[in-house]
Amino acid sequence: MTTHVSHWINGHETASTDGYNDILSPVDGNVHVAVAKGTAQDVDRAAKAATDSAEDWRWMSAAERGRILRRIADALREQAESFLALESADTGKVRNTLMGEIENSAAYFEFYGTLVNLPIGSVLDVSPDQHVYTKREPYGVVGVITPWNLPLNQAARAVAPALAAGNTVVCKPSESTSQTTVALARLASECGLPAGVFNVVCGSGSVVGEEIVRHPSVRKVAFTGSVGVGRTISHLAADKLIPLTLELGGKSANIVFEDADLDFAASEAVRAFVSNAGQVCSSGTRLLVQRSIQKDFVQRVAALVAQRKPGVDYGPMITWKQFDTVKHYLDLAQSRGMRPLVGGTVSSDDELSSGAYVDATLFDNVAPDNPLAQEEIFGPVLVAVPFEDEAEAIRIANDSEFGLVGAVFSRDISRALRVAERIEAGQIGVNTWVTGAVETPFGGQKNSGYGREKGIEALNHYSQLKCIIVKL
Ligand code: NAD
Repeated sequence: MTTHVSHWINGHETASTDGYNDILSPVDGNVHVAVAKGTAQDVDRAAKAATDSAEDWRWMSAAERGRILRRIADALREQAESFLALESADTGKVRNTLMGEIENSAAYFEFYGTLVNLPIGSVLDVSPDQHVYTKREPYGVVGVITPWNLPLNQAARAVAPALAAGNTVVCKPSESTSQTTVALARLASECGLPAGVFNVVCGSGSVVGEEIVRHPSVRKVAFTGSVGVGRTISHLAADKLIPLTLELGGKSANIVFEDADLDFAASEAVRAFVSNAGQVCSSGTRLLVQRSIQKDFVQRVAALVAQRKPGVDYGPMITWKQFDTVKHYLDLAQSRGMRPLVGGTVSSDDELSSGAYVDATLFDNVAPDNPLAQEEIFGPVLVAVPFEDEAEAIRIANDSEFGLVGAVFSRDISRALRVAERIEAGQIGVNTWVTGAVETPFGGQKNSGYGREKGIEALNHYSQLKCIIVKL
């Protein structure tokens, strides 16, 4: 029997009033779950619950709020296997990947549960007869809209700091991968989070997502997803004059100079684009290689890529639509006469033939303006682009609509830092690919978005500053 996934509103599982949508498994193409079709009325009910609980949550002592968030972290770790089963069913990801994501999700609640009273202010020395101070306060109800590539992780990344800063939340997961977000809200209730503080409304972006942004009670929105939808949401938010955090796409450059530790740089280059089958906004999908080492280095990378197997090292494309998108780019490459060094097709493994699996793929000598070097494919496809010198590496790296992350590999640390500071992106690795650590502020430049998630900085994006002037 198909599992039905319902909303979580005001501390309760809440059935759909408009039916359920069948979701196809990316592993075998069969219906594996039916997800509630949310309506504007469901969003309204969730927003009302979030509004009604906002005052009590906001004025609960920071220590108590922190204890509840840390209990959620502990419970997530204790129940990792059941979260793994749900996420695995929705995404087909391999065990190691999922364990890492669940641990990371717990770490968000632990980190923000510890920093819960950190959005602090300062005392301003204005005049002897005035005591002036600033403090940060919550927005009230925050809308959180997440994609399908890291469902639990993206929900935790936004919900934990939003709650820590004293807000209440209405969250909409992707319609393809809703199970773990609803399970997270249920777990939070079991850990003592008051009813109404964290609500989940399942359903489509055009109905539930837009209604969350439009709803008069929602005072801030944190969106993670594509550039196109980010733009739509920006217009809706502009009409209401509410702030946004936009975490959008990427086409991140990984720059390797001739003096780098080439074996390590090669293994990092592979990690950067094969993890999660390339379905990570921060994937390093453009490998910029100094021409003097191009042949040798790209061959090292190719040898490692050839060892990575779908179904063993990484899962399928998480949605069938995404499978079609990746196939479109592989067909485009073929039509342009591009010959992959490795991969270039969907998986030829018979056991994976019913699933949305793609072989890890590497193209060499790709021109910087080729669509495969410019557009976000969101699959395990890497293009190597040669460069002559530092100036050209920077120019090619910045010749992109995106600016999410990047990396530089060189034993000349001055050069590495010079280049790192000139790449237009929110996070850069030096002699390493970037880390998923919850402490590291994360977010984009250019079309990759604005605002910051993660780190202490996120708390500033989930709170607003107030200045209080006291006559002495
Ligand atoms: P998407 O933009 O299609 O959908 C993201 C979410 O927005 C989903 O929940 C969807 O239902 C909802 N949505 C769709 N239309 C909407 C609308 N009109 N109004 C409100 N909500 C709407 O993205 P996706 O295909 O789910 O995810 C892939 C994209 O997400 C990639 O571009 C990837 O780079 C990006 N992403 C970015 C980050 C980051 O932190 N920068 C992290 C993960 C994914």
